[in-house]
Amino acid sequence: MTTKVIVWGENVHEQKSETVRGIYPSGMHGCIASALNDDPDISAETAILQDPEHGLSAERLDGTDVLIWWGHAAHGEVDDAVVERVVERVWHGMGLIVLHSAHFAKVFMRLMGSPCNLTWREAGERERLWVTAPGHPIAAGLPDHFELENEEMYGEPFGVPEPLETIFISWFQGGEAFRSGLTYRRGAGNIFYFRPGHETYPTYHDANVQRVLKNAVKWAHSVRRAEGSAIDAPNRPVKEALEPIEERGPRLHKDGEEGLR
Ligand code: ZN
Repeated sequence: MTTKVIVWGENVHEQKSETVRGIYPSGMHGCIASALNDDPDISAETAILQDPEHGLSAERLDGTDVLIWWGHAAHGEVDDAVVERVVERVWHGMGLIVLHSAHFAKVFMRLMGSPCNLTWREAGERERLWVTAPGHPIAAGLPDHFELENEEMYGEPFGVPEPLETIFISWFQGGEAFRSGLTYRRGAGNIFYFRPGHETYPTYHDANVQRVLKNAVKWAHSVRRAEGSAIDAPNRPVKEALEPIEERGPRLHKDGEEGLR
């Protein structure tokens, strides 16, 4: 079974910075999608901020199993209607992989419900990622640790909710540490946050990073989607209770009334 992926890229620094364009001539999103497409079980396309509806129309998301999100400079330019559409799709079971500086993306902050803040330093430090969950599918085929010679430092405290699982922690040359691979479930959707990927370094060309992304796509793909009821909040009338009950006490709502939101 093929997992259908959209790699969403903000595509801002690729246009503005010659360094970034040099490392990623087809964009970071293009590099990631092409790495994923090496896997016969994955079919990846791209979408960018500058596309109509940011390339994330309802029709397109309907056919998407996993959305990958990279953003940095233009989080505020992402249309709130598209954010709501993505969040609702995640609740219904679409997988979401959030990369690097997308910790401040509207979609991620909305799904985490927390500040998602961290400490950082752009100094080309060595990052050493340690696998903390060796049996986890996202870590399949990886060594017990791997290094990225140049990366931006992200340090704790990372202002996210306690994850379901911590797959990686990172050490940085300057001494900081960071929980760099975290899983969540929101509604029926699987979410994976993966830290590396600063745009001035060739991180997404790294074989171990590409292995993580391929594994994460397959992990995040929920074969069974939630039905339409995933976001409904229906009233269950007294008459339809599974065991007979008698109505007691005062009430505010009339039978059959829509709930308040
Ligand atoms: Zn960065």
